[in-house]
Amino acid sequence: MSAFHNYWCSGCDLEGSSTCTWGDFFYQIGTYRFSIPRRAGVCYNCESITAVEILPDQTALHKKVKQIKGKSAPTGYLAEQIELASLLEKRESQPRCLECGSHNFQVIPKIDVGPGRLTLNTPRKTNLIHKKCGGKIYVRQPLLHIDGHDRKERFYTKEGIEVTYQTHPIFKF
Ligand SMILES: [Zn+2]
Ligand SMILES: [Zn+2]
Repeated sequence: MSAFHNYWCSGCDLEGSSTCTWGDFFYQIGTYRFSIPRRAGVCYNCESITAVEILPDQTALHKKVKQIKGKSAPTGYLAEQIELASLLEKRESQPRCLECGSHNFQVIPKIDVGPGRLTLNTPRKTNLIHKKCGGKIYVRQPLLHIDGHDRKERFYTKEGIEVTYQTHPIFKF
């Protein structure tokens, strides 16, 4: 399970947690189903903290493939990323908020909260400014949390648009 983080803004009542990215988010592309790479972000359309798409970095992937070329075939995570990148190569849309489909969001940067219990519960400032109020986004890994998150599966087209269960191609046979 990924780490649980609380996020909040120092300038307004915006708050949320990393649970927004938990659960199963998939691209359904033809018969392929891929877990959507995602992070928590500040969506200015939802006006909340939501899961947002992180599109594969084609340049970085090409570089990695070049590095291992001739030595071995890409395996595991890298192979998956390459396959996903090639499926998304002709994608036209910018990354989207996975709640509302908006492009108007900022990804909350990763922050090194450090190992061990000492850093638990200590608020850390990220370098993200909440554009709406000018406040700063803080992160904290709390000592305890209650997990009330609903983990349903959600499906999206390769353009990042959510499709419902009923229109989902895999269930048509
Ligand atoms: Zn704010
Ligand atoms: Zn949104």
